[in-house]
This record gives sequence, structure tokens and C-alpha cells, in this order.
Amino acid sequence: MKDELKTRFGHTAKDLAQDFAEQLKYSQDADIYHTTAEGRYTALALAIRDRIVHQWNLSRKTQRKENAKRINYLSLEFLMGRAMTNNVINLGVEDQLKEALSSLGYTYEELADMEPDAGLGNGGLGRLAACFLDSLATLEYPAYGYGIRYNYGIFRQQIKNGWQVEQPDNWLRNGNPWELKRPDVVYTVQFGGEVKMIREKGKDNFKWIGSEQVNGVAYDTPIVGYGCKTVNTLRLWSATSPEEFNFHEFNDGDYTEAVRSKISAENLSQVLYPNDTLYMGKELRLKQQYFFVACSLADIIRSFKRRKLSWSQFPDFAAIQLNDTHPSLAIPEMMRLLLDEEGLSWDEAWDITVAIMGYTNHTLMPEALEKWTLPMLQSILPRHMQIIYEINHRFLQSAVSFFPLQPQVLGQISIIEESNPKQVRMANLAIIGSHSTNGVAALHSELLKRSMFPQFNLIYPKRFNNKTNGITQRRWLLDANPRLAQKITEAIGDGWITDYSQIAKLAPFATDKAFVSDFAKIKLENKVKAAAFLKKDSGMIIDPNTLFDVQVKRIHEYKRQLLNALNIMLIYNDIKKGGKATENMPPMTFLFGGKAAPGYVNAKLIIKLINNIAKVINGDSQANKLLSIQFMPNYRVTMAESIIPATDLSEQISTAGTEASGTGNMKFMCNGALTIGTMDGANVEIAEEVGKDNMFIFGHTEEEISQLGKSYNPFAWAMGDNEIKEAVALLSTGYFNVNEPNIFDPLRKSLFEDGDRYFHFADLRMYADAHKSARDLYRGDQNEWNRKAILNIASSGKFSSDRTIGEYAKDIWALKQCPVQRDDGTETALQDAMKK
Ligand SMILES: *Cc1c(COP(=O)(O)O)cnc(C)c1O
Repeated sequence: MKDELKTRFGHTAKDLAQDFAEQLKYSQDADIYHTTAEGRYTALALAIRDRIVHQWNLSRKTQRKENAKRINYLSLEFLMGRAMTNNVINLGVEDQLKEALSSLGYTYEELADMEPDAGLGNGGLGRLAACFLDSLATLEYPAYGYGIRYNYGIFRQQIKNGWQVEQPDNWLRNGNPWELKRPDVVYTVQFGGEVKMIREKGKDNFKWIGSEQVNGVAYDTPIVGYGCKTVNTLRLWSATSPEEFNFHEFNDGDYTEAVRSKISAENLSQVLYPNDTLYMGKELRLKQQYFFVACSLADIIRSFKRRKLSWSQFPDFAAIQLNDTHPSLAIPEMMRLLLDEEGLSWDEAWDITVAIMGYTNHTLMPEALEKWTLPMLQSILPRHMQIIYEINHRFLQSAVSFFPLQPQVLGQISIIEESNPKQVRMANLAIIGSHSTNGVAALHSELLKRSMFPQFNLIYPKRFNNKTNGITQRRWLLDANPRLAQKITEAIGDGWITDYSQIAKLAPFATDKAFVSDFAKIKLENKVKAAAFLKKDSGMIIDPNTLFDVQVKRIHEYKRQLLNALNIMLIYNDIKKGGKATENMPPMTFLFGGKAAPGYVNAKLIIKLINNIAKVINGDSQANKLLSIQFMPNYRVTMAESIIPATDLSEQISTAGTEASGTGNMKFMCNGALTIGTMDGANVEIAEEVGKDNMFIFGHTEEEISQLGKSYNPFAWAMGDNEIKEAVALLSTGYFNVNEPNIFDPLRKSLFEDGDRYFHFADLRMYADAHKSARDLYRGDQNEWNRKAILNIASSGKFSSDRTIGEYAKDIWALKQCPVQRDDGTETALQDAMKK
């Protein structure tokens, strides 16, 4: 048996070719002469998955045997992108696989390109969860990611006549070879109904009898750490009806009604809500949140109960991190389970809940704060509402001593907002019900304490902490930029792959002639490749011999794509006038990418504006010698992996105090782009690491912005600067929308009549000047530009998600690494392959 396994899971090109052919034959019923591209991709994925499963099993066994504590990362979003190339790299079989496929007449890239992105997230928050899973597995921490297996991920964005059009993302259409359904891991979740009080053994017990039931079935995806030592699990819940049919209705002859109720249950995991940093009080969304929280906690508790320990030890074996307030119902749900199902006292249950839970706050924007109306929560989750009232009551009693004779302060920190209708403030619940509240960059964490939750900081000074975000260098450098990764390894060795602090050793190479010239060559190659990607992806034609200036991220007013657009108007106007700001300007390609929430009118208008500006400028024979403006449709992880390594100038220009951290900024940095940006989010820490001299920092600081505050007059700022005045005239006279009168009025209104909430005009002059210095440097001194770019890479050590995860593990989770013990046989073959 062992020999057979060894052959089957061997890692030579020959083994791989054989297994691929076998998968084609047995799981696709095809031979190598009669296959579809989808079939070949699936067969390859299955051949690779086979090589993961054994180590996956072994990881679970080791973690159980060692009685290891586990982190359970609860997130409504996991923006995973593709799995194939990442898994192949982490398995260490890339070279052998390329050889195997070419021996059969296929190319690896072509097969890998068939994989749809797993787009189960909106943007930064979901991508952070994905990077964390990679780091947890690589660092050998026992970890589960828990979320929802949406049938439809983030919509596919098309651009028609300049407008965003949303198309459904049917990512499971051809099946998903990476996941394994676990039909035996299934939990029933209830909604609605009523709470009864039953007196048992001289004690009042609460019994919640729901009126609606939904089953959650687990689908597991292996998360392969680098080197394939630990393989962790991403467990996503899919909703199904507990009964195939409602037999009562069926017997009454209402067949279609019975099927309808089945479909209604399945609605729960149908689609990801496409709003980023915007709260929408939709009932189905609340049900999604409770559904996945209830399944996940049931699963965590089942696994703890197998250990046969006392409840007081629960926090020694499980930590739960809440990725934003989306899973914050985990707090009352944990209380309900411990009180009603397990019979613990309130104080016992509360101590356990607080000790287990940690909460990560992701934004300061008031419109993102989740506040469910009390009547909705009450009707869907009546028992949870009772528990929340009790939590609040006890909390307010304990808080009185901090704010004597200040009932208005108690009103502010109460979980219940006394509005009409009343609302439940989920952030307050998350802070009160957990032992840790963290922000995601130093500035953000300070603002959480100082301006968002000062009273909570007074009550719980030890709970507030910072965990600056990070990204995994394995996906964003090793996988996305293989040529640069290879160069770096040649220069400093490959230790940076698992210990990113070693990237600092690259600093001396910033002035090494050969290295600098290789860096420049690779950047150009990446631009050629990105141009080919865009040509294939959307038919776009761009010139690799131009400065690539890139702003890719969700479209949001606070991220200020409009500021970028206004600056382009300044540049365009200057070119038309033969002005000073653009003489000797390098030819530039401005690339934009990002999705707007479907209901966010101004964000969609910003996309339309960029496309209209592009049309005018790209069609202007004078301007288009220097300027190309492009909106890349359907920005997603796979596009990011292609565009970011090709970027020269990274746009990180949010209003100071609005972007909690940003992670796009870090991806660009480690790929050797220079940043033009504000002192916001993690840009502040990037500046600390690399030095402001090696960036183009501009704009008002957070303090200055809040100083400006209410006295800010955007009109005065805009009209006081002649060039800005002229550029603004282009917008207000309809220069970019000649045949579409007034379409941009809402944008003009938000800038002038509604007070320019994001301070575009306060920063535009400084932005234009900083941008000019960037252009001048690029044009004037390529060596100096490249030196700074390489210094950026060398200074990016802090921004690995390995560092972030190490801090969470130590400060919040008290989590220990659990190295997977090898047995002989298959791992030996694997380790041999890794050594080669
Ligand atoms: C990294 C990433 C983001 C986050 O970008 P920010 O610039 O930090 O907002 C969003 N979407 C995708 C696809 C990403 O890869």
C-alpha cells in the first residue's frame, strides 16, 4: 500500500503526468486527445488536490493529538482568488508540473488560466482574511476559517457606454475541484418563533422554539502552507432545507409550494452582498450572519466537547476572531449555547465568551456601522434579543461608576440606540462582549480610541490594541511576480519567503548597477505581460513603454478616485495650453480599476466620468501622445496579480483619517512601485519604514483635516487657484459629457453644494505638485527612481501578514505553533521534492 501511495503521490514530472492523465480518464471520462479546456483544468486540480489531502489529514491528527488551541477566524468574506498556482508553489512542484504538462502538449499557464476567481468578498476586508489563512498555515498555527459558500460571489463588472453593468458571478458553474463536501458535518439553524420559559430542577430555563429551520452543510477547502507542512481548513457553509420536501404540504397536493420552501432555505447562501464599507439593513443579510455564526459555533463546540474537558477550559482550546461586526452575533449565540443548551450560569458563560472572542474593527466611516433595528432582530432572533438586553443591562450598571450623573454618556455607549425604531449597535456589542478590540493600522487604532470609542477606552483601556494589516509575500510577490522573486532570491537567498524581515537585506542592491538594471528589465517585462493580460481580458490596448500610474481598489468617494480624475483634467488642460506643468512630461498610462456598489450612485458616476475623460483624452491627437486613460473592467484578485507587478506609481490618496489601513498599498510597495499618497492608514507606517523621501507624500494630515472641519469652503479653495479653476470649468461646462447633458451634476453638487465631504479641493494643489515631482523624477532620473523602488521593496518587511498573524497569535489569541509531525511514506517523497 505504501509503495502504491508513493508512486501515486510521487512528485516527479512523470508521476504528475501520469496522475493528470488518470484524472482525465477516470474523473473526466476523457483521454488526452478528447478533452475540453475545463476538463483539463479540473483534472489537473484534482491531481494536485490528491497531493494535499494526506498532509491535510495529518495536520488535523497532529493538532488533535497535541491538544492544540485553535483560532477560528469568522468572516463573511474570503476573497481567495485562484487556488491552482498558489497551491502548486506551496507544494513545491511547479517545475515538475510544467515539464509534465508540456510532455503532454499542454502549457501550465493555459490550464491555470481556466480557473475562475473565488470572489467571495468585496475588497480589502475579504482579501485580508485570505492572506491571514495563508500565513496561519505557513506558520503552522492550528486554524479554521469559517464563512459562507456563496453560490454567487462579487458580481462581474462590465462597462457599457462608460457605465458599470453588473453580471452574476456563477463561479461554481463547472464545479469546484478544490472543495470537499462534508455531508456529515451539518447543523440545523432556526429563525423566528418564540421563547418559552420552562421551570426545570428548580431553575428557569429558556427554550427557543423557532418557526423556520435551515441546514448548513460544510464544504472544506484545504489551505496549504508554504512547503506543505501544515494544511488548514477553510470551512464554508451552504444552506439547504432540513427536509427535502415539506411533507405536509406535499400530501396536501401543493407540490410547488413544498419545493418553494426548499428553495427559500437555499436563498440564504445564494449571493454575497456587494457593499463595501456600507451598511444596509436587509433581513436576508441578518439571516446570513446568524446562519454562518450558528453553524460555526456549533462546530467549534462539537470539537471542544470531544476533548471531554470542563467548560472553564474552553478558552484554552479555542479563540474566535470576529472580522468586523458581521459575525458579532457570535457573542449572544455563544451565551445562548452556554446558558440554554449547556446549563452554565450567566457569569460562567460570560467569562468564557469574553475570553474567547476578539473583535477587529475595519472602518471609522459612520455609514459602515451595523445597527439592526430592534423589531427585526426581535422577530428573527427573539432569544438573542433577550440576551442582548441582559448584556446591556449589566454593562450599563457597571458603567455608571465611570460616568456618574452623565446619563447622556450612558445613552451613547448603550448597545441599544433609543431611536425610532430602536436600533442595536453591533460595534458596542462586539467591544463589550470580547476581550480585545483592534484597529488595523496605528493611526486607525489611535482614532478608534480617541474619536470613535473614547468612553469604551476609558472603561476598558486594556482591550484596545493595534494590529497593522499585512499581505502574504507568497501570493503577492513569489506567485504574482516570479521573475522579480527569482532575482531577489539570487541576491539575498530565499529566506524572505517565510521570514519576510529578511527582505531588508535587499537595501544595498538599490545601488548595485547590475541589480538595478535587472529590476528595470523585469518591470518592463511585467508591463508587457500586463498589457497582454488586459488585451485578452477586455480588448484594451496599452503601451508598455509608458509610466504606469495605477489606482485599483473599490470605487468610493473617500478613496478619492475623483481627486485622481481632477488631476488628470489639470494635466490635460496644461497640455492643451502648452503649459509648464507638462513640458518634458513622460508618456503616461493612467489605469483605474474597481467595482462600485450597485446602489452607490456617486461611485457609479465616478466610473462613468473616468470613462468619459478617457474617451475625450484618448481621442485627442495632441494629448494622447502623452496621456492614455484606461478603466480596466472587472478588477479582481487575478487582475491585481497581473497589474501590480507592472506598476510604477501606486495611487493611495484617500482623505487622511478615512482609510483604516489599506493593503493594496503594501502589495504595490513590495513589487517596487513608488507610492503617491496621503498620511492615511498604513501609508503612515510605510512612510516610517521607507522614509518620506522615497515616496510622494502630500495633503492635509488627519489633524489638519479635522482642524479645517466645518469652516472648510471647497469653492474658495477651487477658485483661488487658476489652473484648478480652469479644470473645474471643464467639469461644470460639460466638456466631458457633451451629448449627455447634466449627468455629472450629482458629483459637482457633492463637491461644491454639499461641502466636499472628502476635501478634494483642500488637497488638489498639493496632489498636482507631488504628481509633477513623480513625473519629473521618472523622466529625469531613472536610476534614482529605481533606487527608490528597490528601497521600497527592501523596506516592506513589516507588511507581511506573517508579522501581523504573529502579533494576533501572541497578543490576542495566546496561540502556539503546532508543527505537523511527519510520518514516512508520502511526506518523504514530498520533502524530497521540496529539497530539489
Ligand atoms: C488588495 C485588494 C483590495 C484592497 O485594496 P485597497 O487599495 O487596500 O483598498 C481590493 N480588491 C482586491 C482584488 C485586492 O486584491
